[in-house]
Amino acid sequence: MKVLKFGGTSLGNSERIKNAVEIVLQESKAFVVLSAMSGTTNRLIDISDHVLKNNKQKALKSAYKLRNQYHSIAADLLKEPEKAIEQINKYFAILENQIQVSPKPYTEKHIVSFGELLSTNLFYQYLKQNNIKSTLLNATELIRLNSKNEPEVEDIKSKLENKIQLYNESRIFITQGFICSDIEGNISNLGRGGSDYSASLFGAALNADEIQIWTDIDGVQNNDPRIIDSTQPIRKLLFDEAAELAYFGAKILHPSCVLPAKENNIPVLLKNTLHPDDPGTSISKKTEGTGFKAVAARDNITAIRIKSSRMLLAYGFLRKVFEVFEKYETPIDMITTSEVAVSLTIDNEIHLSKIIAELQTYGTVSVNNNKTIVGIVGNIMAEEPGHAEKLFSALADIPIRMISYGASAYNMSILINTEDKKRTLQALNDNLFNRRK
Ligand code: ADP
Ligand code: ASP
Ligand code: MG
Repeated sequence: MKVLKFGGTSLGNSERIKNAVEIVLQESKAFVVLSAMSGTTNRLIDISDHVLKNNKQKALKSAYKLRNQYHSIAADLLKEPEKAIEQINKYFAILENQIQVSPKPYTEKHIVSFGELLSTNLFYQYLKQNNIKSTLLNATELIRLNSKNEPEVEDIKSKLENKIQLYNESRIFITQGFICSDIEGNISNLGRGGSDYSASLFGAALNADEIQIWTDIDGVQNNDPRIIDSTQPIRKLLFDEAAELAYFGAKILHPSCVLPAKENNIPVLLKNTLHPDDPGTSISKKTEGTGFKAVAARDNITAIRIKSSRMLLAYGFLRKVFEVFEKYETPIDMITTSEVAVSLTIDNEIHLSKIIAELQTYGTVSVNNNKTIVGIVGNIMAEEPGHAEKLFSALADIPIRMISYGASAYNMSILINTEDKKRTLQALNDNLFNRRK
């Protein structure tokens, strides 16, 4: 069985939903994972913000508007929309209740969960009215986070096996992306863009033949299409290359989505719902081509430098530094060292002041915000001559704060000022991918 995931833009209106169903029905049996319709999660986050600021009237007004929109979509999509409208009203009644009662720690997560619940219900009703045997599964019962707030494939597997057997006669299984439950059974989620991760977890748990991610672009592009014109699709990527690109900000894939597929060796295919005939990008163990393949950028990075003469010829210094970050559960992204200083980056500033205070016991600390990591990804053997020269000549005019090269065969990264992002991506595009002969 294949897993097919459709993102919000692929479900933007009733026509797009029908189009997604057409794609699904190419398969004799399929497991479908859906995001919320585009715009809905943002609207729900606004509603939740109003609730948390005790602005109930604004929250209610917004919720009623959204409910009416879903009534129209149901009426557009379905010949007999009554049942779907009844279910929409049920969801909005729960949402209204969440708005009225005093907020709990999980209120925001509960409110944003309705986006995926609404889209999967509409999709299911449409299949049912077209006499396609299908089962709608609740993802909050299938994905439960552990004590470290992580999902576990084995746990999902055992829960899914039961359901698949129970509804064995179904041709299509449908479930929500993004949402899950936490260890206490409250509604939770996998973070923004998390439906890709859900699809990969379900694919791994089902040992699927393939995980298809259907979106609004012809596969992974070699640069950020939101910033650079004339990007090109990459037809084949290794799991590790795709993971690096997702990690460095290629929004098409959630950063955690590659790992479950890689660990279970399940190919991932990225396809465009608007051009289903385009081959898209296939991510697997097989690759083609060498050298630079793509670049991506990640913003909101903070650089921290710790300077200390105690580092000179000393051992154990880095361990002490890393322990501070471990204590405050703050991952480090990039690191460079010299004899007397170490520079590193983080993208989570929640505990920054405490981290700085502790680091100051080891040396002089300086902090710079508004940085961007640009990841350059490909089959880059560090020892092969020429890669660094190509990169540095492309970046001749860009001020660079840090460089990381040689850590893996798939990635080089540089840290720049965010204000230089566009020209950096453009310079890399012009020099690495479109070199004038
Ligand atoms: P979905 O709603 O299907 O999950 P997303 O908006 O999350 O879609 O992801 C698709 C978008 O990712 C594209 O429309 C594109 O603007 C953006 N994007 C950023 N970097 C890349 C890249 N390297 N390749 C393809 N798309 C990218
Ligand atoms: N609907 C969620 C979001 O907008 C999850 C997703 O689209 O993958 O972030
Ligand atoms: Mg997405």
